[in-house]
Amino acid sequence: MSRRLDILVSGAGIAGCAAAIALAEAGHDVRLVERQEEWAFASSGIFLYANALVSLEALGALDPVLAAGFVVPEGRNLYLDHLGDPIVTTYYPTADDGRIPAVVGIKRAELHRILADRLAEVGVDVELGTTIADLAEEAQGVRVVTSDGRVCSHDLVVSCEGLRSPLRQYVAPGSEVRYSGFGIWRSVHERPRDLTDKIMQMGAGTRLGIMPISEDRLYTFGTVVDPDKTWHQRADWPRLMREALAEHQGPARPLLDEVDDATDVLYTAVEEVALPLPWHRGRVVLIGDAAHASTPFMGQGGAMALEDALVLAQSLEGDDLEQALTRFGELRHPVCTYAQDVSRRVGEAGARVRDDFAEFAAGAQAAVDGFYAELDRLRTGSVV
Ligand SMILES: Cc1cc2nc3c(=O)[nH]c(=O)nc-3n(C[C@H](O)[C@H](O)[C@H](O)COP(=O)(O)OP(=O)(O)OC[C@H]3O[C@@H](n4cnc5c(N)ncnc54)[C@H](O)[C@@H]3O)c2cc1C
Repeated sequence: MSRRLDILVSGAGIAGCAAAIALAEAGHDVRLVERQEEWAFASSGIFLYANALVSLEALGALDPVLAAGFVVPEGRNLYLDHLGDPIVTTYYPTADDGRIPAVVGIKRAELHRILADRLAEVGVDVELGTTIADLAEEAQGVRVVTSDGRVCSHDLVVSCEGLRSPLRQYVAPGSEVRYSGFGIWRSVHERPRDLTDKIMQMGAGTRLGIMPISEDRLYTFGTVVDPDKTWHQRADWPRLMREALAEHQGPARPLLDEVDDATDVLYTAVEEVALPLPWHRGRVVLIGDAAHASTPFMGQGGAMALEDALVLAQSLEGDDLEQALTRFGELRHPVCTYAQDVSRRVGEAGARVRDDFAEFAAGAQAAVDGFYAELDRLRTGSVV
């Protein structure tokens, strides 16, 4: 937008922080509200593939991410069977001729610390414990009442409120979250010095990943099939995680054995949001998980949220807000839907019990290369 806009960003997760940074850097006035009273984030880790790292560089956050996280040597991913025997090794692509690494693991809390530092540098405060209580479109803007009682008029409201975004019902009434049929166990451990690769162990219907996230920590994530969306008592999580992934030996075994009541364990029933366009209504736009929460099997949800933020800022360079938001959706919907669809298929394929992995091994590297090449092709025309 050639004009400086007054923008309210709701939700300070990956999408909200990135949007606030990108929009402030583009010269807009940004207000960022976050529901949580305290800025606390899940203790597990997150993978940032090269496309996420490219976006973090554009947001001025790449160097601290590389310093705090763990760069996987050569972007190597070892596929092992549940006993720990090798199936195939694949390599994720780097970006910019190898200057940007292929994949970095990082603690989620560290990623948010880095994004918070950038918010401070661009002059955006996070208003904690604040939500949108009421919103009404008026001729010249959106009249918003926030939970602290303030009444303000904004040119644009960006919903970055994640999977359960209340504003999604405003933009797309009746839209629903879809349960994927999968649950994911996660735990954080001390990293053995020699464990430096990303590892995926393929079991009979379960998959267990191991990912270094810092010099001293790694995290594990185990996928289980759970069509009934079973609710588990939190106190039982460590025991249930051990039981659910009991078939895994090899490098997973000592990690599973050390899971006890003192271990940081998380269980997530994985849900998706598959929303057709438009992703905006009037002056309210959805980005990140609010628009397109995905299963995590391609590790792309955070990357898509970062890209959304940059593309939104770029789209607002035009003069007409309706056209800008329409363009944003048109640029992002194919990319995010593709990542979502592939992720869902990978999850379903991983849940199938196989007699052998020969076919999987033969096509594994081509599948990785094909996925990133198609993402690149679909992104053509946008800033990232
Ligand atoms: C098990 C699992 C593993 C994953 N692994 C990866 C990975 O390795 N790599 C990757 O790129 N992605 C991964 N993802 C996906 C990634 O975590 C999400 O896509 C990403 O966090 C989305 O960011 P977001 O900001 O859109 O939403 P969120 O992270 O959900 O943030 C939403 C924010 O909005 C706040 N909020 C909610 N409601 C309101 C409200 N009404 N008002 C104000 N604030 C509100 C919330 O408190 C939160 O801070 C994984 C997801 C799962 C479930």
